Amino acid sequence: MQAEVIIVAAGKGERMGRELPKPFLPLCGTPLLIHTLRAVAQSLFITRIIIVVAPEREALCCDLLRKYAPLRIPVTVVHGGAERQDSVRLGLAALESTSEIVAIHDAARPFLDRKILECSIEAAADYGGALVAVPARDTIKRVAEDGTVLETIPRQQLWFAQTPQTFRVSLIREAHARAVAEGVTATDDAALIERLGKPIKIVLGSQQNFKITTPEDLQFAEALFLNTSKSNESTKKTGDE
Ligand code: C5P
Repeated sequence: MQAEVIIVAAGKGERMGRELPKPFLPLCGTPLLIHTLRAVAQSLFITRIIIVVAPEREALCCDLLRKYAPLRIPVTVVHGGAERQDSVRLGLAALESTSEIVAIHDAARPFLDRKILECSIEAAADYGGALVAVPARDTIKRVAEDGTVLETIPRQQLWFAQTPQTFRVSLIREAHARAVAEGVTATDDAALIERLGKPIKIVLGSQQNFKITTPEDLQFAEALFLNTSKSNESTKKTGDE
């Protein structure tokens, strides 16, 4: 099984309240984007990675790739657009003409598990589209603008969408082209396929695959990273003994 990956990293990250967008902020000393790249590069399914960045961050991104790569996989940097959907569309335009499956992943999710990525690629080959998601664990309320509860939404069928979202290339290209032609915007790619009435298979994600959005998320990610590195280290030592 083979796939290309588009990593979208062209957001402004305003909720982080820092001048540099979040993919370029350090997580335990290494930029978030590099952690995400390394996670994606764990999979032997991946033939090429396209990183989508804001034009003014291209030079920084290329410097980081020189400093922290080499990866065994070729990496191409392209310019993104004003909205996430624009950035994905521009990434799709850069795929190899022979590419059949593409996984689209947020740069701000560095804890992607290789097996989850590979399951999403296999599901996309079978169904056309696959969405990594986790079931809602808390009770969910719809709330009015004045801060009072309108209703409780039964959570049995509710899932939180994560990335990667993985698709047959022809299908996701068609979905994006239709969205442009019809003036539709969506906060994720699966929604553009759903509106075509095509199936999207859910692939079970993990709580660790959360999107780093706020300064608290970054602190939590550092603690998680240190903890994971420590436990990997002790597993290695036990193995060595
Ligand atoms: O804004 P949000 O957190 O939903 O962004 C998710 C991902 O999409 C981030 O990795 C961000 O860099 C990327 N993005 C993008 N182009 C935009 C907006 C967001 O590549 N215009």
